[in-house]
Amino acid sequence: MKDEVDYSLIGHNTFGIAATAARYIEYDSVAELKEFIASGALTEPYLHIGQGSNLLFTRNYPGTILHSRIKGKEVMYETDDDIVVRVGGGEIWDEWVAYCVNHQWYGAENLSLIPGEVGAGAVQNIGAYGIEVKDIIQCVETVDAKGEDCIFTNPQCQYSYRQSIFKRPDMKRYFVTYVTFRLKKKECYHLDYGSIRAELAKYTSPNLDNVRQAIISIRSNKLPDPQTIGNAGSFFMNPIISRKKFEQIQKSYPDIPFYELDAFNIKVPAGWMIEQCGWKGKSLGPVAVYDKQALILVNRGGASGKDVVALSDAIRQSVFNKFNIDIHPEVNFI
Ligand SMILES: Cc1cc2nc3c(=O)[nH]c(=O)nc-3n(C[C@H](O)[C@H](O)[C@H](O)COP(=O)(O)OP(=O)(O)OC[C@H]3O[C@@H](n4cnc5c(N)ncnc54)[C@H](O)[C@@H]3O)c2cc1C
Repeated sequence: MKDEVDYSLIGHNTFGIAATAARYIEYDSVAELKEFIASGALTEPYLHIGQGSNLLFTRNYPGTILHSRIKGKEVMYETDDDIVVRVGGGEIWDEWVAYCVNHQWYGAENLSLIPGEVGAGAVQNIGAYGIEVKDIIQCVETVDAKGEDCIFTNPQCQYSYRQSIFKRPDMKRYFVTYVTFRLKKKECYHLDYGSIRAELAKYTSPNLDNVRQAIISIRSNKLPDPQTIGNAGSFFMNPIISRKKFEQIQKSYPDIPFYELDAFNIKVPAGWMIEQCGWKGKSLGPVAVYDKQALILVNRGGASGKDVVALSDAIRQSVFNKFNIDIHPEVNFI
């Protein structure tokens, strides 16, 4: 177990923000985590992180940051159609997706190249290209801040768009240790989203590996690589508004893109609204709106968390002034 004080978090957040944790604990097993908790050393405030690809440190963290290095993939059981696999929360998400593809297990491939760890994916309900991780999660194992085991079935996780029960402030005391996935063993693709089919046309046949490569190619052309430019992916959630409100906006902006969720609710791309406000490619101090995708804020170098918050606030205000819609950050402000 790693146990450090005044620990630099710059390598633990993809925004590349310089911040420290008063204490940093990295554990390799459930037993190590429980031992640490049983010692009485876990005092508030505390926060469990993954790779920090959805975090914004707005100041130094005054408490304990926990990080899991629990690894492993264990087949629990399988039928002719399905396979159920238990995966360590500290596994890298995209390595797990690659593993599924290599084993010809269907279901995770559209979530290729999403940064982060398996445990965080289950907290965040990561999603891309028409799939959310909730679609393949069977259950989530946790240890709470008292050292007790607690398993959440998929319905108990209360999943919705980028949300789960674990994101509630009172549920931050649950640390995800393992996630169990149910995948398909027979061919089953989700290709009717965005430009997947167009990209796949470049390949001879839509096999599982080609679908993964197509997704990787689309994403790599669109999203900034955090290794070269600090960012946390989509900074804002796409707002869901009433049909009535949408129709009002549509009168002034007939080209507004939208996605109908049901008879009453419409999802509108926050990136489009930010672009309409003229922010695409613009900077405020050391932070900028990415020039290829207005939903992403990037660290041009040396930005502090406060710099990012300043740009985020300015964008939210502009969008509110123009569309009367309050957009909310997807990124977790710490
Ligand atoms: C370039 C880029 C592209 C992205 N694309 C997408 C995308 O397409 N779709 C999408 O959904 N997201 C996307 N993201 C966001 C991000 O990858 C996901 O939110 C990811 O799940 C975060 O994983 P992480 O390990 O970095 O978690 P962190 O950012 O470290 O943490 C995220 C949240 O999970 C909690 N947490 C982490 N681990 C645990 C644990 N073991 N137990 C309890 N709580 C925990 C943290 O407290 C925090 O609230 C993108 C990010 C980047 C930088």
